[in-house]
Amino acid sequence: MATPEQKKFVSQIDANKPALIDRLAKAVSIPSVSGDASYRKHCFEMADFLLDELKRLGATAQLKPLGKQVLDGQEIELPPVVFADYGNDPNKKTILVYGHFDVQPALKSDGWDTEPFTLVHDEKTGRLYGRGSTDDKGPVLGWINVVEAHQQAGINLPVNLKFCLEGMEESGSVGLDELIAAEKDAFFRGVDAVCISDNYWLGTTKPCLTHGLRGITYFKLTISGPARDLHSGVFGGVVHEPMTDLFAVMSKLVTPEGKILIPGVNELVAPLTDEEKQRYDVMDFTVADVEGATGSKTTISTDKATALMARMRYPSLSLHGIEGAFGEAGTKTVIPAKVTGKFSLRLVPDQTPEAIVELVTKYVEAEFAKLGSKNTVHIASEHGGKPWLADPNHWNYEAAVKATQTVYGVKPDLTREGGSIPVTLTFADTLQKNVLLLPMGRSDDGAHSINEKIDISNYIEGTKLLGLYLHEVAAHAA
Ligand SMILES: [Zn+2]
Repeated sequence: MATPEQKKFVSQIDANKPALIDRLAKAVSIPSVSGDASYRKHCFEMADFLLDELKRLGATAQLKPLGKQVLDGQEIELPPVVFADYGNDPNKKTILVYGHFDVQPALKSDGWDTEPFTLVHDEKTGRLYGRGSTDDKGPVLGWINVVEAHQQAGINLPVNLKFCLEGMEESGSVGLDELIAAEKDAFFRGVDAVCISDNYWLGTTKPCLTHGLRGITYFKLTISGPARDLHSGVFGGVVHEPMTDLFAVMSKLVTPEGKILIPGVNELVAPLTDEEKQRYDVMDFTVADVEGATGSKTTISTDKATALMARMRYPSLSLHGIEGAFGEAGTKTVIPAKVTGKFSLRLVPDQTPEAIVELVTKYVEAEFAKLGSKNTVHIASEHGGKPWLADPNHWNYEAAVKATQTVYGVKPDLTREGGSIPVTLTFADTLQKNVLLLPMGRSDDGAHSINEKIDISNYIEGTKLLGLYLHEVAAHAA
């Protein structure tokens, strides 16, 4: 049940609604695309915008430069990270919030119905359209809205807040890991837990908390033989063909039902507990959601929990492509001299990229040897990322569950995501603190696509959620 202070905060947010939408409109109007050198100045503009907002609220805020990078053939300055402290009461818990103020590229000509960098309020649907509305300017401003509403309502913020807002998330977070490591005992000192609002509900109606992400290892399997491409009319049946060998080996990696065939890989998966199984049973999700998202009826399992577990708690192996193969239209009779098959595994606890690389390498070499081919095989792995799993019984999660119940009247789903959000792992590993992923938007927000939106209700109720979460954190500490 909400306390009088929580109620005051909630009504302040309701009263502020038009101003909060205006603030989001200002942020969206700054086209802070990090992946295009010609937009770089807008990333700086966006950092300044946030710096000003935070300073206006009395936070100790600063821009941390990250140095230079080469982009589009020119050496340019990386956008700074915005660091800010709000409150330093040793009797309060300190929550670190992370978000990003850069966005994906967007042009009206990509197929947007409205100007991407103008926030458009669709009165009929209650949606706010614009690049960055949900990813991640809405959530970042949510935290600022929370601090402001406390001041206006004359309530003390019950925790200390630290802000870490970056401007390169959509472009590989260049320089961020190093900054976090360097500031571990400086800016990040005293952090009790971390909250990141930069993902989405599983569906469109029920809030969720996310406590796990899959890791990844990417492989390039190269088979080479002849010194040059050959003609099948002259050499077909005469030489060992690299493509034939590659197909033979790649067909041994995974079955059409998605079962990974590499010995030892599935054995590393942490066992499923009854408690965990129940979470999948109650999740707001149907197999029809998969069919809608894929535009097909190709879901392997028609059982909801099985489909969810396939995405969230089991590894997967996907075949991505073949480099060096004849890929154009037509009927060229070439025998490619060298081909590279690309595949990756999404990893889950207790798998590590190192263990998987060893198992895959050994298996691929053994399978190739069975072919008796005179070609040669080489396997290389790239960008390994560990899976991440946080303890959902930690007070950080309990606080978010309670706040969700107050705002939305339901117990949130406890989800894991099939992809990765690398900074999550950096914070968890470097600071050794519990990290909570607390999404604001919905699954259909279109974060990286055209017509990105956030529903007004998600922006406003989501802001209340962030604020009440901080109150529940403090209540737990008391
Ligand atoms: Zn994002």
